[in-house]
Amino acid sequence: MKDESCIFCKIANGDIPADTLYEDEDFRVILDLNPASEGHALILPKNHFADLYEMDEAHLQKVLCVAQKVAKAMTEALHCDGMNLIQNNGEAAGQTVRHFHLHLIPRRSGDDAVKLWTPGVSVPDRQKEIVKAVRACL
Ligand code: AMP
Ligand code: ZN
Repeated sequence: MKDESCIFCKIANGDIPADTLYEDEDFRVILDLNPASEGHALILPKNHFADLYEMDEAHLQKVLCVAQKVAKAMTEALHCDGMNLIQNNGEAAGQTVRHFHLHLIPRRSGDDAVKLWTPGVSVPDRQKEIVKAVRACL
């Protein structure tokens, strides 16, 4: 289930050293090499999944439990005021490494560490069309 050409497979499985905050049989949590804020961490599955869409149910169920456990420890240890969980899928969404990873980004009041989006204006008719289109695909 590893991809020999994938750097996050190598890191997650200990073939390349990384600053590891947490590890269990399925995941390794490391510090990001280019942190958005102090303590910025990445949760990496040890198996290769390119993105959310490829993740199996067992990993999907576990990943948020790992996120909660590590986020609580980071909050206590680093005294942060908040935490962003960010997970990019596809180049258009900003994914640069094609191995699933969930960002944990500690936030301090007033910092400018993460810019999420500029709120737009919803169009009621279009909202209804979107609901219909997505529900038809579920
Ligand atoms: P994304 O843009 O969501 O694909 O995020 C990829 C993240 O991986 C970025 O925040 C990078 O700084 C981080 N990153 C890339 N290579 C490494 C590495 N070798 N060790 C730790 N973090 C890395
Ligand atoms: Zn991989």
